[in-house]
Amino acid sequence: MPDNANGSWVEAAERMVAHQIEGRGIRNTRVLEAMRTVPRHLFIPEEHRGRAFADEPVEIGHGQTISQPFIVALMTELADPKPASRILEIGTGCGYQTAVLATCAGEVFTIELEAALAERARRTLQAMGFANVHARVGDGAAGWPEAAPFDAVVVTAAPADVPPALVDQLAVPGRLVIPVGTTSQELLVVERGADGLRRRSVLPVRFVPLR
Ligand code: SAH
Repeated sequence: MPDNANGSWVEAAERMVAHQIEGRGIRNTRVLEAMRTVPRHLFIPEEHRGRAFADEPVEIGHGQTISQPFIVALMTELADPKPASRILEIGTGCGYQTAVLATCAGEVFTIELEAALAERARRTLQAMGFANVHARVGDGAAGWPEAAPFDAVVVTAAPADVPPALVDQLAVPGRLVIPVGTTSQELLVVERGADGLRRRSVLPVRFVPLR
């Protein structure tokens, strides 16, 4: 999919949203708009771009994948971003989910373990003019204490259990959206309210492990 064929990717993104995202129950209008306007193909290595808008995860190098479009939309909707929200993302990867979050929220802080992926994502996001993204290389399980608290934390790699630091860094109210498990995984939402923590399981998922 050539970058200059603007018409073709816009139509592909619109079809993706209609069939894979709106069609499966995502209703948040800012999330739908972000999924239509962020150029997903530009986050994917050239050799795999033909599958950019397909209903599947795609390899991004270093043994990692960009999540399926529906999962990105669902996790963003579950994070419930508002224009002023501050969001922490663990697992920058190619930076696509980062861009979707940054389109919906005020500020996004994102952490990636793999320096080469972090650098590529930083360049892609900068070229697109995202000025509200703060990126660092490191172990996301420790969170980003200096920038806490966060209205939402979104984790895109699966730990065996919820890392306590990520719950500690939630605002009140705040929500953590995270895949948890090893051989089988579930997507959890941990809500922090004045009355404590509430945890619910949303659906079975398959993410790369949090290392
Ligand atoms: N949201 C990303 C998903 C990438 S896959 C995207 O749309 O491209 C998950 C990412 O988490 C990988 O890039 C992997 O390197 C990273 N990761 C794994 N363990 C991590 C850790 N402990 N801290 C930060 N990032 C981690």
